[in-house]
Amino acid sequence: MPELPEVEVSRQGITPFMLGETVMRVVVRNASLRWPIPSEIQEMVGLTITGIRRRAKYLLLETDWGTAILHLGMSGNLKVLPHGSPAGKHDHVDIELGNGKLLRLNDPRRFGCLLWTREPAEQHPLLVKLGPEPLTEDFNGDYLYQRSRKRKIAVKQFIMDNHVVVGVGNIYANESLFSAGIHPQRAANEVEQGQYQALAADIKKVLARAITQGGTTLKDFTGSDGKPGYFVQELQVYGRAEQPCSGCGALLQEVRMGGRSTVFCPLCQR
Ligand SMILES: [Zn+2]
Repeated sequence: MPELPEVEVSRQGITPFMLGETVMRVVVRNASLRWPIPSEIQEMVGLTITGIRRRAKYLLLETDWGTAILHLGMSGNLKVLPHGSPAGKHDHVDIELGNGKLLRLNDPRRFGCLLWTREPAEQHPLLVKLGPEPLTEDFNGDYLYQRSRKRKIAVKQFIMDNHVVVGVGNIYANESLFSAGIHPQRAANEVEQGQYQALAADIKKVLARAITQGGTTLKDFTGSDGKPGYFVQELQVYGRAEQPCSGCGALLQEVRMGGRSTVFCPLCQR
């Protein structure tokens, strides 16, 4: 599943081809994504792309008239191709631009979406209740500490809640809790302020590293393999159950939390 770093790298990858370009045509081959693509998406035609932003895992293609909200779902990916490139089975949408390129959305499982809004995108029902972006100053240890005082849920579930902070997927939650030395099952309201400061810093670090690595791994959005996979980075705990902890040598343990694999060091994480 594309996570926040993959979506950010997609944003960076498509921006040079789209920014300032006029939309010539929107070809919808299959409107049945997670939500049907609205016919209003055709309002894009003739408009100029003035900005390509990201909020959580949503890409926002901005124009002076409205904003297209694009999500890659479980299996979506974006490619930049020349006009007339033959479409495959799961190539559901092309946005053709004045420069002879098109943005193609491919999504085999069709959990992604493409919507159109003329309101400020942040006010859209999908976006309005989202927590802060992890890589901004609004997200920090004091914020996590304040937000968690009445929360008895496990700290791992707490930081994976999109209302608290967006973009902390399972791998990133595992890795940042290990770096910060916090046991994933600990109640959120029992984690101390200093620990939340370490945790916020480690969440930023692990996400920023994934974006940097993704940017170097994914050199070309215009080739046939523009598919952002999971950016392989050196993982300390995720996928390493029963292997020795890099810090103390104890065997890492695995539990399921909310159905997701959770790996931690029983000695280093308290
Ligand atoms: Zn350890």
